[in-house]
Amino acid sequence: MEEKEIYDLIILGGGPAGSSCAIYAKKYKLNTIIISPEIGGTINKAHMVDNYLGFFDITGMDLGMKFSEHLAKFEVPIEYDFARKIEKDGDLFKVLTFSKEFVGKTILFALGLERKKLGIPGEKELLGRGVSYCVTCDAMFFRDKVVAVTGSDDHAASGAVHLAQNSSKVYLINPESELSCKPYWLDEINSNSKIQVLNETNVTEVLGAESVKGIKTTKGDLNDVEGFFIEIGAVPSDTLLSEFNVQKDDKGFIKVDSEQRTTEDGIYAAGDITTNSAKFLQVATAVSEGAICSYTIFKDLKKNARNKN
Ligand SMILES: Cc1cc2nc3c(=O)[nH]c(=O)nc-3n(C[C@H](O)[C@H](O)[C@H](O)COP(=O)(O)OP(=O)(O)OC[C@H]3O[C@@H](n4cnc5c(N)ncnc54)[C@H](O)[C@@H]3O)c2cc1C
Repeated sequence: MEEKEIYDLIILGGGPAGSSCAIYAKKYKLNTIIISPEIGGTINKAHMVDNYLGFFDITGMDLGMKFSEHLAKFEVPIEYDFARKIEKDGDLFKVLTFSKEFVGKTILFALGLERKKLGIPGEKELLGRGVSYCVTCDAMFFRDKVVAVTGSDDHAASGAVHLAQNSSKVYLINPESELSCKPYWLDEINSNSKIQVLNETNVTEVLGAESVKGIKTTKGDLNDVEGFFIEIGAVPSDTLLSEFNVQKDDKGFIKVDSEQRTTEDGIYAAGDITTNSAKFLQVATAVSEGAICSYTIFKDLKKNARNKN
């Protein structure tokens, strides 16, 4: 029977954290594979990125492509699929995708965050038919139309500014008493006559049968809205870790030490999903955690090998 390949490291997630770890892992000659449905991760959804060193005026999608090119140059194997289960097998880990099984000595969790949902009537039913969680991906479908975006932070604020480039009017529906975005975005919003901010307002229902025909809010109905964008933050996804002794904080972020080790031997985490880097959820911090993680895994594997001899 053919022996199964044993990887030194199986990386789950091909965003900035996972990709960065893979590049360093190659340098450390760790036998590594990335399992991810795509490369680039969440930054693919950013309209423009101008705060990652060495790049300015680059679209998120193009930055993601740069990561792909880098991985290809370093010949990092990629399995384009979702990990759906992880099992412990003695000292090793088994990762099951929808069609295959991979065996590794260590696992890196670089799965990023999942968009938060409002959980209101019409949200699920009209997803993709006027309801969206990604301004960058879907703004172009609402040229000359009235749209609304809900949220308080930079993502909602920058989303409103981006939408105003094409749409005829943008309601920025802020559940809080004031926006918590960077002053730069506030200036952009205040000087844009297409954007109307509604503070202390919650959206309670998305209206329409085949497509969005308005939204209900706590301050009344907005029947002219044809596109509704939800930008209320994101939470870590943890479904794969339930069988392991991996500690999380009260918000579900994976606790790691300063070298990216989780509380379970052989499992590491990097990027938006962890408690590190002051939870400053950026490409720069994800890339940094991924790089550190690779060095930690290299050292730990070496130590384990020494202890066995
Ligand atoms: C609209 C928007 C704009 C942004 N703009 C900027 C910006 O200008 N500058 C900046 O620095 N940051 C920006 N960010 C933040 C940045 O995108 C994130 O901080 C960064 O992508 C986090 O990297 P990560 O690798 O931790 O996670 P992610 O990039 O989220 O990557 C997670 C990866 O895991 C994969 N995955 C998920 N589930 C599974 C599974 N079951 N099995 C295998 N793989 C899986 C995903 O497909 C993805 O590839 C922005 C974010 C958003 C939403």
